[in-house]
Amino acid sequence: MSTHDGPKHRVLLVEDEESFIDALTIGLDRDGFDVTVARDGQEAVEKFSAGAFDVVLLDLMLPKVSGLDVCRTIRQSSDVPIIVVSAKGEEVDAVVMLEMGADDYVTKPYRLRELIARIRAVLRRHDHARETPDGAMAVTEVGPVRLEADTRRCYVQGREIKVRKKEFALLEMLMSNAGRVLTREQLIDRVWGSDYVGDTKTLDVHIKRLRTLIEEKPKDPKHITTVRGVGYRFDA
Ligand code: CA
Repeated sequence: MSTHDGPKHRVLLVEDEESFIDALTIGLDRDGFDVTVARDGQEAVEKFSAGAFDVVLLDLMLPKVSGLDVCRTIRQSSDVPIIVVSAKGEEVDAVVMLEMGADDYVTKPYRLRELIARIRAVLRRHDHARETPDGAMAVTEVGPVRLEADTRRCYVQGREIKVRKKEFALLEMLMSNAGRVLTREQLIDRVWGSDYVGDTKTLDVHIKRLRTLIEEKPKDPKHITTVRGVGYRFDA
């Protein structure tokens, strides 16, 4: 299925398990990616600083330098998309990773197709963010919801609904990161400010109200999804 035109996206695959390395190298190459492998955290940092990568696939449990430290080090100099790969039961670390600046995470075992879809999604978001100057993106439209930033208007299936200022900001943040999990802390920081000292239930109250406004069945939401123990995600 190598049907890609133009330059190949370069992937830094940070992984110490040979079975994963083999499967991913073959699978990603077949899908049109140019793969470089780093087998421990130290090698990851060295190879990253020596090469120009479009995306980093980062295993958490690594020899020498942990995935967490690799993520932190890369973020000091680069906004390259980072997808963290964690083993089952490491969900707590995934939360930390998102806060450390990882763009997404997947849990082992995963399906190659799913992983490739996630890689393409972070690459699209990254390219889009780079091409869109600040303030230029006046309209955000995902699934049934359309937001107009200039006029602060919100439409659901073409019908205008009234949302308050914070609700609009929250929806905008979720929608502009559609498909990606945002932690509670990220949402509170960005919508209420990092110096916010109020009750964290405020976020849930806002989410609940937004669901009654945009979901067909607010108790069984299809768009504003709860990711247990992590935060929320907007799905188209
Ligand atoms: Ca590992």
